[in-house]
Amino acid sequence: MKYISTRGDLTPRSFSEILLEGLAPDGGLYLPAHYPRVDVATLARWRGLSYAELAFEILSLYIDDIPAADLKALAAKTYTAEVFGSAAIVPLKPLEPGLQLEALSNGPTLAFKDMAMQLLGNLFEYELARRGETLNILGATSGDTGSAAEHAMRGKHGVSVFMLSPYGRMSPFQQAQMFSLQDANIHNLSVEGVFDDCQDIVKSVSNDLAFKRKWRIGTVNSINWARLLAQVVYYFAGYFQATKTNAEQVSFAVPSGNFGNVCAGHVARMMGLPIAQLVVATNENDVLDEFFRTGTYRVRASAETFETSSPSMDISKASNFERFVFDLLGRDGERTRALFGAGLQRDGAFTLSADEKARIAAFGFVSGRSTHADRLATIRDTDARFGVVIDTHTADGLKVAREHVRAGETMLVLETALPVKFAETIQEALGRRPALPAALADLESRPKRFTVLPADVAVVKAFIEAHAPAH
Ligand SMILES: *Cc1c(COP(=O)(O)O)cnc(C)c1O
Repeated sequence: MKYISTRGDLTPRSFSEILLEGLAPDGGLYLPAHYPRVDVATLARWRGLSYAELAFEILSLYIDDIPAADLKALAAKTYTAEVFGSAAIVPLKPLEPGLQLEALSNGPTLAFKDMAMQLLGNLFEYELARRGETLNILGATSGDTGSAAEHAMRGKHGVSVFMLSPYGRMSPFQQAQMFSLQDANIHNLSVEGVFDDCQDIVKSVSNDLAFKRKWRIGTVNSINWARLLAQVVYYFAGYFQATKTNAEQVSFAVPSGNFGNVCAGHVARMMGLPIAQLVVATNENDVLDEFFRTGTYRVRASAETFETSSPSMDISKASNFERFVFDLLGRDGERTRALFGAGLQRDGAFTLSADEKARIAAFGFVSGRSTHADRLATIRDTDARFGVVIDTHTADGLKVAREHVRAGETMLVLETALPVKFAETIQEALGRRPALPAALADLESRPKRFTVLPADVAVVKAFIEAHAPAH
């Protein structure tokens, strides 16, 4: 399998070449040159596999430059009951007829980002060892992504993590998840500023190409193809659990921000998994809902980006969205470049033609939005009727799922985090704190390891120079 860019660069690249990369050189995102089709015989064979075996089968269709035995070992080492809490890895929880939750949040940081990041940690370690190289991952986080990355990379050979977060602005639980890591290759930099300051510093360091090359700076952001690929697996795993035969269809409702999670559903559907609808659920930051309703994609300014009680979906633009649009446009790189390149830079928006918009339905996408009041009502209702406490993001998914589920349809709502991560809103909804998993009972009292730094690029660079492994 070779990879191409969404903006017309057709230079074929192998998986290992793009594994450690961000954007393609032409500013596009990497996608496989085609989606392998999974026929009924293959689906039937996969139905009986364990999660790790299924992951290996799917990964093998896209990765042909890692020997099969090694890839199999990497999948087996990643998706274990010890790390993800059960043999099913992504068990279903039935709610009412037609609606079930698919639990993606039983990994080390209790959010779905572990599903992909845990594999990425093992793939990075493998590839760096094979090349005899090291990598310093630099990132900015306001919570979920940073902790998933740190828990995936901790103790990995050849990788160090420098994670910037806004000093004093994360929840005590999120802080503890990151700062309690004692691994020597994990560096928590608590920046005296807000999240945007952290992100600006990361951009500024990454734009210094000489520094970037000298200190081998990399990222693990959501546009990484391997992350998306890892997420394709749980759409198949959810489908197999929810059905008895491959003649049945299933729909998925996905709490969405950067469009990474639901884009993996799109890839699964393109491969032939019998998915009826892909329901995109947003919060008040409804860039994507607006697009699916109107055909206009309009990036929001910071002043228009709201801080909500489902904070991991608070986005101003959806960084993976270009991948879907490329497919929607019949993989026309010129047209994709016209929409996402200079035009979007200039106008902050684009609108599909009527003909282009009419094609969306064939891809199964529908959408909806949810507000703080909806979130509270859905959390209360789910607790009262089913005795299940869901987190704020999952509540957005469930609310919008109900607007689209049809009689006789099976819809899986992806549970993207456990409620304990967003305890304040759960308290507001239910009048009580959510339960803490027993293994994490003492999390907030564990010793913390972090360094407070001013919001200053030069200081962050100096920290990296002083702490990156010698080479
Ligand atoms: C990241 C995240 C999302 C949004 O996922 P995208 O892939 O960015 O669409 C939703 N819920 C939770 C809990 C998250 O951490």
